[in-house]
Amino acid sequence: MSLIAPALRQVLESLRKHVGVVEAARRLGPHDERALPQPVRTTRSIDHSRIAALWRRLTAETDASDQDREAVLDPSSLAAAPAYQANIEGFAGTLKLPMGVIGPMRVNGLHAQGDFFVPLATTEAALVASYGRGAKVATLAGGVTAAVTSDGVMRTPAFVFADILDVGLFVDWVVEQSETLKQVAEATTRHGKLVGLEPWIDANVVFLRCRYTTGDAAGQNMVTIATDALCRFAVARAPRPPKRWYIEGNFSGDKKASFLGFISGRGRKVTATVTLPKALVERHLGTTVAAMLDYARIADLGARLTGQIGAQGHIANGLAAFYLATGQDAACVAESAIGSTRMEARDDDLFMSVTLPSIIIGSVGGGTGLPSQSAGLNILGLKGTGNANALAEVAAATCLAGEISIMAAIAAGHFVRAHHKLARGR
Ligand code: NAP
Repeated sequence: MSLIAPALRQVLESLRKHVGVVEAARRLGPHDERALPQPVRTTRSIDHSRIAALWRRLTAETDASDQDREAVLDPSSLAAAPAYQANIEGFAGTLKLPMGVIGPMRVNGLHAQGDFFVPLATTEAALVASYGRGAKVATLAGGVTAAVTSDGVMRTPAFVFADILDVGLFVDWVVEQSETLKQVAEATTRHGKLVGLEPWIDANVVFLRCRYTTGDAAGQNMVTIATDALCRFAVARAPRPPKRWYIEGNFSGDKKASFLGFISGRGRKVTATVTLPKALVERHLGTTVAAMLDYARIADLGARLTGQIGAQGHIANGLAAFYLATGQDAACVAESAIGSTRMEARDDDLFMSVTLPSIIIGSVGGGTGLPSQSAGLNILGLKGTGNANALAEVAAATCLAGEISIMAAIAAGHFVRAHHKLARGR
C-alpha cells in the first residue's frame, strides 16, 4: 500500500503520463517569447465605442460568440448602462440570474411587520422551492418572530510603534481624545455614528477597533472613509505617532468568516424564531418533531467535530440568493452567513431559531439602486430610508425558512429525492 495520498498519486501519475517533465517545465516557465497582451480598459466609461471594441476583442480572442455578446449586452442592458456606471468598471453588459419569489411569508419583527414576498436569485435548482416550503410552514404557524439585537460595522486600522511604551502613550492619548476623534470621524458622514473605539494591543502594534452604526446603509465605504479621517487626525496629533499605519489591519472580519464576527458581531445581529405545531410538521414537512430533534443532535455533533463557526444547515444558500436579489455585496456572505440554528421541544411542538451575529445589509447605497436589485427591494417593500433593520429581519426569517426545510428534508430522508426531481429534471 502506498504511503502517498491516493488523490495526490493520481495527479502525479496523470501529469507524468500526459505532460512529462520537459513539457511541465515549459508550461510553468515565463512565456516571454509571446508579446505581452494589452489589458482591457477597466475604467468607469460606458462609452459605446469602448464597449463595442471590448466585445470585438472577446469574440476574436476568446470562445465568446456573437450570441454570447447578445446575452450579456442586450438592448435593455445597454440602455441602462448609466445606472450601472457607479458600480462597475470595464462595463461589458449585465449578467442575468434567474430570480424566484417565495411567500408571502409572515414576519412579526421589531421592524418588519407583515406578509412579505421574498425575491431570491440563484442558479441552484430546488433552493427556491425549499425556502418557499419553509416560509409557508412558518407562516401557517403564525409567522416568524424576528429582531435586530445589535448594530455596528467595524473598521480596524493597525498602528505600528517602536515599542510597548509608545503603544501605551498612543492608547492613552486615544482614550483621552475619544470625543474629538468621534467628531472627526462623524464629520465625513451624515448617517455614520462612531459608537465604539476599542484598542487591541499586540506587543508594538495597536489594532483600533472602530465600530459605527451606519443608518440604512450596509456601511463598508462609510466606515472606511470615516476611519481614514480619524486615523489621519490621530497620526498628525498624537504625542508619539506610529512608525506606520494601515487603514485595515485585517482585524475587522471584513468579508471573512471569523470568531470575532461570531462573538462580537459586525453589521447587524439578528435573530429569528418560530414554534411549529406538531401537526404542521407532520402534514407539511412529512416528518415528526422527534425525527427533527434527533437530526438536530447529529447535525450539531457534525458541526462541533468539524469546527464550524456556529452550527447550522445552509444559511449561505438563502442569504446569497437574498443578497443577489436585493443589491447587497454578495462577497459579504463570507462573514454574514455564519450563525447558529437551534431546535428545542416545546411540549409536543418544535421551537426553531436562527441567529445571524454578523450580517452586512443595507436598504440604501451599494448595489441597492440598480435596476433589477431595486425591483427586488420594491417586491419586499423595503427600499430606501428607514428599512435596513426590517430588511435584516426578513433576511433572517428567510434563512430560518431554509433551515426548517432542509432539516425536515434530511430528517425525513427526502433530501436526495427533492434534488433528483428538481435539480436533475432538465
Ligand atoms: P455607499 O453607497 O458607499 O454609501 C451610502 C450613501 O448613502 C452615503 O453617501 C450616505 O450618506 C447615503 N445615505 C442616504 N440616506 C442614508 C441613510 N438613510 N442611511 C445611511 N446612508 C444614507 O454604501 P456603503 O453602505 O457605505 O458601502 C457599501 C459599498 O461598499 C458596497 O458597494 C460594497 O461593495 C462596498 N465595499 C467597500 C469596502 C471598503 O472598504 N471601502 C469594503 C467592502 C465593500 P452619508 O455618507 O452622508 O451618511
